[in-house]
Amino acid sequence: MNSPFAIRIMVVDDDSFMLKLLGRQLAGLGFAGVSMHTSGRAALDALASPPDLILLDLKMPEMDGIEFVRHLVERGYGGSLVLISGEDERMLQAVSTLVRAHSITLLGYLHKPVQLPALAAMLAQWAPALAPRRRELSASYDVSTLRAAIAGGELVNYYQPKVAVSDSRVVGVETLVRWQHPVDGLVFPDQFIGVAEENGLIDEMTRCVLRGALALLQGWQDTGLNLHVAVNLSMYNLAAPAFVDYVAEQVAQAGVLPGNVVLEVTESRLMADLRIPLEVLARLRLKRFRLSIGDFGTGHSSLAQLRDIPFDELKIDRGFVHRASRDATLRAIFDASMNMARQLGMEAVAEGVEDQDDWDFLRSQRCHLAQGYFIAKPMPSADLPDWIARWQAKRLGAKEGSAA
Ligand code: C2E
Ligand code: CA
Repeated sequence: MNSPFAIRIMVVDDDSFMLKLLGRQLAGLGFAGVSMHTSGRAALDALASPPDLILLDLKMPEMDGIEFVRHLVERGYGGSLVLISGEDERMLQAVSTLVRAHSITLLGYLHKPVQLPALAAMLAQWAPALAPRRRELSASYDVSTLRAAIAGGELVNYYQPKVAVSDSRVVGVETLVRWQHPVDGLVFPDQFIGVAEENGLIDEMTRCVLRGALALLQGWQDTGLNLHVAVNLSMYNLAAPAFVDYVAEQVAQAGVLPGNVVLEVTESRLMADLRIPLEVLARLRLKRFRLSIGDFGTGHSSLAQLRDIPFDELKIDRGFVHRASRDATLRAIFDASMNMARQLGMEAVAEGVEDQDDWDFLRSQRCHLAQGYFIAKPMPSADLPDWIARWQAKRLGAKEGSAA
Protein backbone atom coordinates (compact mmCIF):
# COMPACT_ATOMS: atom_id res chain seq x y z
CA MET A 1 0.00 0.00 0.00
CA ASN A 2 2.80 2.41 0.76
CA SER A 3 4.49 2.10 -2.64
CA PRO A 4 2.67 4.79 -4.68
CA PHE A 5 2.38 7.05 -1.68
CA ALA A 6 6.07 6.99 -0.89
CA ILE A 7 6.51 8.64 -4.27
CA ARG A 8 8.14 12.06 -4.20
CA ILE A 9 6.47 14.71 -6.28
CA MET A 10 7.78 18.20 -7.02
CA VAL A 11 5.47 20.98 -8.16
CA VAL A 12 6.95 24.05 -9.83
CA ASP A 13 4.70 27.03 -10.52
CA ASP A 14 5.24 30.75 -9.95
CA ASP A 15 1.55 31.20 -9.10
CA SER A 16 1.30 30.39 -5.41
CA PHE A 17 -2.48 29.95 -5.60
CA MET A 18 -2.11 27.25 -8.26
CA LEU A 19 0.67 25.72 -6.24
CA LYS A 20 -1.51 25.40 -3.17
CA LEU A 21 -4.43 24.09 -5.16
CA LEU A 22 -2.30 21.39 -6.76
CA GLY A 23 -0.80 20.53 -3.39
CA ARG A 24 -4.26 20.09 -1.98
CA GLN A 25 -5.43 17.99 -4.91
CA LEU A 26 -2.37 15.75 -4.62
CA ALA A 27 -2.89 15.38 -0.89
CA GLY A 28 -6.51 14.48 -1.58
CA LEU A 29 -5.31 11.72 -3.90
CA GLY A 30 -3.14 10.35 -1.13
CA PHE A 31 0.29 11.71 -2.08
CA ALA A 32 2.10 12.93 0.98
CA GLY A 33 5.63 13.53 -0.30
CA VAL A 34 5.00 16.69 -2.29
CA SER A 35 7.47 19.59 -2.41
CA MET A 36 6.48 22.91 -3.93
CA HIS A 37 8.59 25.60 -5.52
CA THR A 38 7.66 28.99 -6.88
CA SER A 39 10.59 29.21 -9.30
CA GLY A 40 12.68 26.97 -11.52
CA ARG A 41 15.79 28.13 -9.69
CA ALA A 42 14.43 27.06 -6.30
CA ALA A 43 13.34 23.73 -7.77
CA LEU A 44 16.79 23.10 -9.27
CA ASP A 45 18.37 23.81 -5.90
CA ALA A 46 16.16 21.11 -4.42
CA LEU A 47 17.08 18.56 -7.10
CA ALA A 48 19.92 17.17 -5.00
CA SER A 49 17.42 14.56 -3.90
CA PRO A 50 15.52 14.13 -7.17
CA PRO A 51 11.77 13.50 -7.12
CA ASP A 52 10.00 10.71 -9.01
CA LEU A 53 7.68 13.14 -10.75
CA ILE A 54 7.71 16.85 -11.53
CA LEU A 55 4.59 18.83 -12.30
CA LEU A 56 5.91 21.82 -14.20
CA ASP A 57 4.30 25.10 -15.14
CA LEU A 58 5.55 26.27 -18.54
CA LYS A 59 5.18 29.98 -18.18
CA MET A 60 7.24 31.35 -15.32
CA PRO A 61 8.84 34.78 -15.22
CA GLU A 62 12.47 34.20 -14.45
CA MET A 63 13.18 30.69 -15.74
CA ASP A 64 10.48 29.31 -17.99
CA GLY A 65 9.53 25.64 -18.21
CA ILE A 66 11.48 24.98 -21.40
CA GLU A 67 14.67 26.28 -19.88
CA PHE A 68 13.98 24.26 -16.73
CA VAL A 69 13.67 21.09 -18.83
CA ARG A 70 17.07 21.79 -20.37
CA HIS A 71 18.57 21.96 -16.88
CA LEU A 72 16.85 18.68 -16.02
CA VAL A 73 18.48 17.04 -19.03
CA GLU A 74 21.89 18.41 -18.05
CA ARG A 75 21.49 16.97 -14.59
CA GLY A 76 20.42 13.59 -15.90
CA TYR A 77 16.98 13.69 -14.30
CA GLY A 78 15.54 10.17 -14.53
CA GLY A 79 12.03 10.75 -13.25
CA SER A 80 8.81 11.62 -15.04
CA LEU A 81 7.31 14.95 -16.00
CA VAL A 82 3.85 16.47 -16.42
CA LEU A 83 3.50 19.86 -18.07
CA ILE A 84 0.92 22.29 -16.77
CA SER A 85 -0.06 25.37 -18.61
CA GLY A 86 -2.67 27.86 -19.63
CA GLU A 87 -1.14 27.94 -23.12
CA ASP A 88 -3.09 26.64 -26.05
CA GLU A 89 -3.02 23.06 -27.26
CA ARG A 90 -0.54 23.64 -30.09
CA MET A 91 1.99 25.26 -27.80
CA LEU A 92 1.68 22.36 -25.35
CA GLN A 93 2.12 19.85 -28.14
CA ALA A 94 5.22 21.61 -29.40
CA VAL A 95 6.79 21.62 -25.96
CA SER A 96 5.81 17.98 -25.43
CA THR A 97 7.67 17.01 -28.59
CA LEU A 98 10.68 18.95 -27.36
CA VAL A 99 10.66 17.23 -23.96
CA ARG A 100 10.31 13.78 -25.49
CA ALA A 101 13.21 14.55 -27.82
CA HIS A 102 15.29 14.96 -24.65
CA SER A 103 14.26 11.41 -23.62
CA ILE A 104 12.48 12.58 -20.51
CA THR A 105 9.43 10.50 -19.66
CA LEU A 106 6.56 12.85 -20.29
CA LEU A 107 3.26 11.61 -18.88
CA GLY A 108 1.37 14.34 -20.68
CA TYR A 109 0.09 17.82 -20.07
CA LEU A 110 -2.70 19.35 -18.06
CA HIS A 111 -4.54 22.56 -18.77
CA LYS A 112 -4.93 25.21 -16.11
CA PRO A 113 -6.92 25.28 -13.92
CA VAL A 114 -6.13 21.63 -13.32
CA GLN A 115 -9.25 19.50 -12.96
CA LEU A 116 -9.01 16.79 -10.32
CA PRO A 117 -10.29 13.94 -12.56
CA ALA A 118 -7.68 14.77 -15.21
CA LEU A 119 -4.92 14.90 -12.61
CA ALA A 120 -6.12 11.66 -11.01
CA ALA A 121 -6.31 9.93 -14.39
CA MET A 122 -2.80 11.00 -15.32
CA LEU A 123 -1.33 9.90 -12.01
CA ALA A 124 -3.25 6.62 -12.02
CA GLN A 125 -1.79 5.80 -15.41
CA TRP A 126 1.67 6.40 -14.04
CA ALA A 127 1.23 4.90 -10.57
CA PRO A 128 -1.09 1.98 -11.32
CA ALA A 129 -1.29 1.10 -7.66
CA LEU A 130 -3.30 4.27 -7.16
CA ALA A 131 -6.39 3.02 -8.92
CA PRO A 132 -6.71 -0.18 -6.86
CA ARG A 133 -6.38 1.88 -3.70
CA ARG A 134 -9.44 3.89 -4.59
CA ARG A 135 -11.34 0.76 -5.50
CA GLU A 136 -9.92 -1.28 -2.68
CA LEU A 137 -12.63 -0.42 -0.24
CA SER A 138 -15.47 -1.10 -2.61
CA ALA A 139 -13.89 -4.32 -3.79
CA SER A 140 -14.37 -5.83 -0.37
CA TYR A 141 -17.99 -6.71 -1.14
CA ASP A 142 -18.98 -8.78 -4.13
CA VAL A 143 -21.97 -8.18 -6.35
CA SER A 144 -24.04 -11.15 -5.31
CA THR A 145 -23.73 -10.27 -1.60
CA LEU A 146 -24.77 -6.70 -2.33
CA ARG A 147 -27.64 -7.79 -4.56
CA ALA A 148 -28.93 -10.06 -1.79
CA ALA A 149 -28.52 -7.25 0.75
CA ILE A 150 -30.62 -4.85 -1.32
CA ALA A 151 -33.30 -7.48 -1.90
CA GLY A 152 -33.21 -8.47 1.76
CA GLY A 153 -33.73 -4.93 3.02
CA GLU A 154 -30.33 -4.63 4.67
CA LEU A 155 -29.81 -1.10 3.33
CA VAL A 156 -31.01 1.58 5.72
CA ASN A 157 -31.33 5.30 5.29
CA TYR A 158 -29.57 7.66 7.64
CA TYR A 159 -30.49 11.33 7.59
CA GLN A 160 -28.34 14.37 8.22
CA PRO A 161 -30.09 17.64 9.10
CA LYS A 162 -29.60 20.76 7.00
CA VAL A 163 -30.19 24.10 8.69
CA ALA A 164 -30.52 27.72 7.60
CA VAL A 165 -27.44 29.70 8.55
CA SER A 166 -29.33 32.97 9.20
CA ASP A 167 -31.68 31.72 11.92
CA SER A 168 -30.63 28.07 12.49
CA ARG A 169 -34.03 26.69 11.59
CA VAL A 170 -34.12 23.12 10.30
CA VAL A 171 -34.97 23.11 6.59
CA GLY A 172 -34.60 19.44 5.78
CA VAL A 173 -32.35 16.42 5.73
CA GLU A 174 -30.02 14.66 3.34
CA THR A 175 -30.47 10.92 2.95
CA LEU A 176 -27.25 8.92 3.27
CA VAL A 177 -27.48 5.20 2.72
CA ARG A 178 -25.87 2.64 5.04
CA TRP A 179 -25.66 -1.12 4.87
CA GLN A 180 -26.65 -2.83 8.10
CA HIS A 181 -24.41 -5.82 7.48
CA PRO A 182 -25.26 -8.89 9.60
CA VAL A 183 -21.60 -9.58 10.37
CA ASP A 184 -19.63 -6.40 9.63
CA GLY A 185 -22.04 -3.97 11.26
CA LEU A 186 -22.78 -0.58 9.74
CA VAL A 187 -21.05 -0.29 6.36
CA PHE A 188 -20.57 3.15 4.76
CA PRO A 189 -21.57 3.98 1.17
CA ASP A 190 -17.99 4.42 -0.05
CA GLN A 191 -17.65 0.66 0.38
CA PHE A 192 -20.53 -0.39 -1.83
CA ILE A 193 -21.78 2.42 -4.11
CA GLY A 194 -18.97 1.68 -6.56
CA VAL A 195 -19.89 -2.01 -6.66
CA ALA A 196 -23.53 -1.07 -7.27
CA GLU A 197 -22.58 1.35 -10.04
CA GLU A 198 -20.26 -1.04 -11.80
CA ASN A 199 -22.66 -3.97 -11.70
CA GLY A 200 -26.00 -2.50 -12.68
CA LEU A 201 -27.37 -2.46 -9.14
CA ILE A 202 -27.44 1.29 -8.65
CA ASP A 203 -30.96 1.79 -9.97
CA GLU A 204 -32.34 -0.80 -7.58
CA MET A 205 -30.39 0.73 -4.73
CA THR A 206 -31.50 4.28 -5.48
CA ARG A 207 -35.13 3.20 -5.77
CA CYS A 208 -34.90 1.58 -2.36
CA VAL A 209 -33.31 4.71 -0.81
CA LEU A 210 -35.87 6.96 -2.51
CA ARG A 211 -38.84 4.94 -1.23
CA GLY A 212 -37.54 5.25 2.33
CA ALA A 213 -36.97 8.98 1.96
CA LEU A 214 -40.44 9.54 0.51
CA ALA A 215 -42.01 7.59 3.38
CA LEU A 216 -40.27 9.92 5.82
CA LEU A 217 -41.47 12.96 3.90
CA GLN A 218 -45.01 11.60 3.81
CA GLY A 219 -44.93 11.17 7.59
CA TRP A 220 -43.80 14.76 8.08
CA GLN A 221 -46.40 16.07 5.70
CA ASP A 222 -49.11 14.22 7.65
CA THR A 223 -48.01 15.91 10.86
CA GLY A 224 -47.76 19.32 9.19
CA LEU A 225 -43.97 19.50 9.18
CA ASN A 226 -42.74 21.33 6.11
CA LEU A 227 -39.22 19.99 5.60
CA HIS A 228 -37.45 18.71 2.53
CA VAL A 229 -35.64 15.45 1.94
CA ALA A 230 -32.60 15.22 -0.30
CA VAL A 231 -31.58 12.00 -2.03
CA ASN A 232 -28.21 11.40 -3.68
CA LEU A 233 -28.26 10.26 -7.27
CA SER A 234 -25.49 8.56 -9.16
CA MET A 235 -24.70 9.69 -12.69
CA TYR A 236 -25.66 6.14 -13.65
CA ASN A 237 -29.22 6.78 -12.46
CA LEU A 238 -29.36 9.69 -14.87
CA ALA A 239 -28.28 7.55 -17.79
CA ALA A 240 -31.75 5.99 -18.01
CA PRO A 241 -34.64 8.18 -19.23
CA ALA A 242 -37.12 5.85 -17.45
CA PHE A 243 -35.72 7.08 -14.16
CA VAL A 244 -37.74 10.31 -14.43
CA ASP A 245 -41.01 8.41 -14.66
CA TYR A 246 -40.12 6.19 -11.75
CA VAL A 247 -39.35 9.12 -9.47
CA ALA A 248 -42.47 11.02 -10.56
CA GLU A 249 -44.65 7.94 -9.97
CA GLN A 250 -43.25 7.32 -6.49
CA VAL A 251 -43.76 10.94 -5.48
CA ALA A 252 -47.34 10.86 -6.75
CA GLN A 253 -48.02 7.61 -4.90
CA ALA A 254 -46.61 9.01 -1.66
CA GLY A 255 -48.69 12.15 -2.19
CA VAL A 256 -45.79 14.49 -1.48
CA LEU A 257 -44.73 17.65 -3.29
CA PRO A 258 -41.81 17.33 -5.73
CA GLY A 259 -40.65 20.71 -4.44
CA ASN A 260 -39.89 19.03 -1.11
CA VAL A 261 -37.67 16.47 -2.79
CA VAL A 262 -34.11 17.55 -3.49
CA LEU A 263 -32.17 15.44 -5.95
CA GLU A 264 -28.43 15.75 -5.36
CA VAL A 265 -26.10 14.97 -8.20
CA THR A 266 -22.37 14.55 -7.97
CA GLU A 267 -20.39 13.82 -11.04
CA SER A 268 -18.19 11.18 -9.48
CA ARG A 269 -16.98 9.82 -12.75
CA LEU A 270 -16.43 11.35 -16.09
CA MET A 271 -19.32 10.75 -18.42
CA ALA A 272 -18.41 10.69 -22.06
CA ASP A 273 -21.88 11.61 -23.20
CA LEU A 274 -23.86 13.98 -21.04
CA ARG A 275 -26.86 14.29 -23.35
CA ILE A 276 -29.12 11.79 -21.59
CA PRO A 277 -28.21 12.87 -18.03
CA LEU A 278 -28.88 16.48 -19.00
CA GLU A 279 -32.23 15.55 -20.52
CA VAL A 280 -33.17 13.56 -17.41
CA LEU A 281 -32.23 16.47 -15.13
CA ALA A 282 -34.12 18.98 -17.24
CA ARG A 283 -37.24 16.81 -17.15
CA LEU A 284 -37.00 16.39 -13.38
CA ARG A 285 -36.65 20.13 -13.02
CA LEU A 286 -39.74 20.63 -15.21
CA LYS A 287 -41.60 18.36 -12.82
CA ARG A 288 -40.61 20.79 -10.05
CA PHE A 289 -38.10 18.63 -8.23
CA ARG A 290 -35.32 20.65 -6.63
CA LEU A 291 -31.93 19.93 -8.15
CA SER A 292 -28.71 20.19 -6.25
CA ILE A 293 -25.19 19.96 -7.60
CA GLY A 294 -22.67 18.51 -5.19
CA ASP A 295 -18.95 18.58 -4.55
CA PHE A 296 -18.61 21.87 -6.31
CA GLY A 297 -15.00 22.95 -6.21
CA THR A 298 -13.46 19.49 -6.25
CA GLY A 299 -13.19 19.54 -10.00
CA HIS A 300 -15.84 16.86 -10.52
CA SER A 301 -18.65 19.26 -11.23
CA SER A 302 -17.94 21.12 -14.38
CA LEU A 303 -19.09 24.63 -15.02
CA ALA A 304 -20.67 23.53 -18.27
CA GLN A 305 -23.25 21.54 -16.34
CA LEU A 306 -24.18 24.53 -14.27
CA ARG A 307 -24.75 26.51 -17.41
CA ASP A 308 -26.91 23.83 -18.98
CA ILE A 309 -29.14 22.89 -16.06
CA PRO A 310 -31.05 25.20 -13.75
CA PHE A 311 -29.83 23.78 -10.46
CA ASP A 312 -31.56 25.16 -7.37
CA GLU A 313 -28.80 24.42 -4.95
CA LEU A 314 -25.03 24.36 -5.00
CA LYS A 315 -23.25 22.31 -2.36
CA ILE A 316 -19.81 23.52 -1.41
CA ASP A 317 -17.56 20.58 -0.67
CA ARG A 318 -16.50 20.12 2.92
CA GLY A 319 -12.88 20.33 1.79
CA PHE A 320 -13.45 24.04 1.17
CA VAL A 321 -15.65 24.75 4.18
CA HIS A 322 -13.99 23.34 7.26
CA ARG A 323 -11.11 25.69 8.22
CA ALA A 324 -11.94 28.13 5.40
CA SER A 325 -11.89 31.01 7.89
CA ARG A 326 -8.23 30.23 8.67
CA ASP A 327 -6.88 29.26 5.25
CA ALA A 328 -6.62 31.76 2.41
CA THR A 329 -6.66 29.12 -0.34
CA LEU A 330 -9.80 27.41 0.96
CA ARG A 331 -11.35 30.78 1.51
CA ALA A 332 -10.71 31.83 -2.11
CA ILE A 333 -12.41 28.71 -3.44
CA PHE A 334 -15.25 29.10 -0.97
CA ASP A 335 -15.77 32.72 -2.07
CA ALA A 336 -15.75 31.75 -5.73
CA SER A 337 -18.39 29.09 -5.07
CA MET A 338 -20.57 31.52 -3.11
CA ASN A 339 -20.33 34.08 -5.90
CA MET A 340 -21.25 31.50 -8.47
CA ALA A 341 -24.30 30.49 -6.43
CA ARG A 342 -25.37 34.12 -6.05
CA GLN A 343 -24.92 34.97 -9.69
CA LEU A 344 -26.85 31.93 -10.85
CA GLY A 345 -29.59 32.41 -8.26
CA MET A 346 -28.85 29.18 -6.42
CA GLU A 347 -28.93 28.47 -2.71
CA ALA A 348 -25.46 27.70 -1.37
CA VAL A 349 -25.14 24.79 1.03
CA ALA A 350 -21.92 24.44 2.98
CA GLU A 351 -21.02 20.85 3.82
CA GLY A 352 -18.70 19.66 6.56
CA VAL A 353 -19.32 22.36 9.16
CA GLU A 354 -17.31 20.87 11.97
CA ASP A 355 -16.77 23.58 14.55
CA GLN A 356 -17.87 26.96 15.86
CA ASP A 357 -15.30 28.75 13.68
CA ASP A 358 -16.79 27.18 10.54
CA TRP A 359 -20.28 28.17 11.63
CA ASP A 360 -19.31 31.76 12.46
CA PHE A 361 -17.54 32.01 9.12
CA LEU A 362 -20.66 30.89 7.25
CA ARG A 363 -22.74 33.45 9.09
CA SER A 364 -20.32 36.20 8.13
CA GLN A 365 -20.45 35.03 4.50
CA ARG A 366 -24.25 34.88 4.43
CA CYS A 367 -24.19 31.32 3.21
CA HIS A 368 -27.76 30.00 3.02
CA LEU A 369 -27.68 26.47 4.38
CA ALA A 370 -25.27 24.32 6.32
CA GLN A 371 -24.76 20.74 7.35
CA GLY A 372 -22.00 18.99 9.20
CA TYR A 373 -21.00 17.27 12.41
CA PHE A 374 -21.15 20.59 14.30
CA ILE A 375 -24.90 20.61 13.64
CA ALA A 376 -25.63 16.89 13.60
CA LYS A 377 -24.20 13.63 12.36
CA PRO A 378 -26.31 11.45 10.06
CA MET A 379 -28.81 9.47 12.16
CA PRO A 380 -31.53 6.85 11.72
CA SER A 381 -34.99 8.30 11.04
CA ALA A 382 -36.18 7.21 14.50
CA ASP A 383 -33.75 9.66 16.12
CA LEU A 384 -34.84 12.66 14.06
CA PRO A 385 -37.91 13.82 16.04
CA ASP A 386 -35.89 14.04 19.27
CA TRP A 387 -33.03 15.79 17.57
CA ILE A 388 -35.36 18.33 15.94
CA ALA A 389 -37.10 19.02 19.26
CA ARG A 390 -33.80 19.50 21.08
CA TRP A 391 -32.40 21.69 18.31
CA GLN A 392 -35.49 23.88 18.27
CA ALA A 393 -35.38 24.31 22.04
CA LYS A 394 -31.71 25.26 21.95
CA ARG A 395 -32.30 27.62 19.08
CA LEU A 396 -35.21 29.39 20.75
CA GLY A 397 -33.23 29.56 23.99
CA ALA A 398 -30.37 31.24 22.15
CA LYS A 399 -32.77 33.72 20.58
CA GLU A 400 -34.34 34.69 23.91
CA GLY A 401 -30.85 34.97 25.39
CA SER A 402 -29.78 37.39 22.69
CA ALA A 403 -33.02 39.44 23.00
CA ALA A 404 -32.53 39.88 26.75
P1 C2E B 1 -21.86 13.28 0.04
O1 C2E B 1 -23.11 13.33 -0.73
O2 C2E B 1 -20.85 14.33 -0.19
O3 C2E B 1 -22.29 13.22 1.56
C1 C2E B 1 -21.64 13.87 2.60
C2 C2E B 1 -20.72 12.92 3.34
O4 C2E B 1 -20.00 13.65 4.31
C3 C2E B 1 -21.46 11.83 4.11
O5 C2E B 1 -20.63 10.68 4.13
C4 C2E B 1 -21.57 12.45 5.50
O6 C2E B 1 -21.75 11.48 6.52
C5 C2E B 1 -20.24 13.13 5.60
N1 C2E B 1 -20.28 14.28 6.51
C6 C2E B 1 -21.32 15.05 6.85
N2 C2E B 1 -20.95 16.04 7.69
C7 C2E B 1 -19.62 15.91 7.86
C8 C2E B 1 -18.63 16.64 8.61
O7 C2E B 1 -18.92 17.63 9.29
N3 C2E B 1 -17.36 16.20 8.52
C9 C2E B 1 -17.01 15.12 7.78
N4 C2E B 1 -15.74 14.76 7.76
N5 C2E B 1 -17.91 14.41 7.06
C10 C2E B 1 -19.19 14.80 7.09
P2 C2E B 1 -21.23 9.23 3.87
O8 C2E B 1 -22.56 9.09 4.50
O9 C2E B 1 -20.17 8.24 4.20
O10 C2E B 1 -21.47 9.26 2.30
C11 C2E B 1 -20.40 9.31 1.40
C12 C2E B 1 -20.88 9.51 0.01
O11 C2E B 1 -21.62 8.40 -0.47
C13 C2E B 1 -21.84 10.69 -0.14
O12 C2E B 1 -21.10 11.87 -0.20
C14 C2E B 1 -22.55 10.35 -1.42
O13 C2E B 1 -21.79 10.79 -2.53
C15 C2E B 1 -22.56 8.85 -1.40
N6 C2E B 1 -23.92 8.39 -1.03
C16 C2E B 1 -24.50 8.31 0.18
N7 C2E B 1 -25.76 7.85 0.08
C17 C2E B 1 -25.99 7.66 -1.24
C18 C2E B 1 -27.10 7.19 -2.00
O14 C2E B 1 -28.18 6.88 -1.48
N8 C2E B 1 -26.95 7.13 -3.35
C19 C2E B 1 -25.78 7.48 -3.97
N9 C2E B 1 -25.72 7.38 -5.30
N10 C2E B 1 -24.72 7.92 -3.29
C20 C2E B 1 -24.82 8.01 -1.95
CA1 CA C 1 -24.74 14.68 -1.26
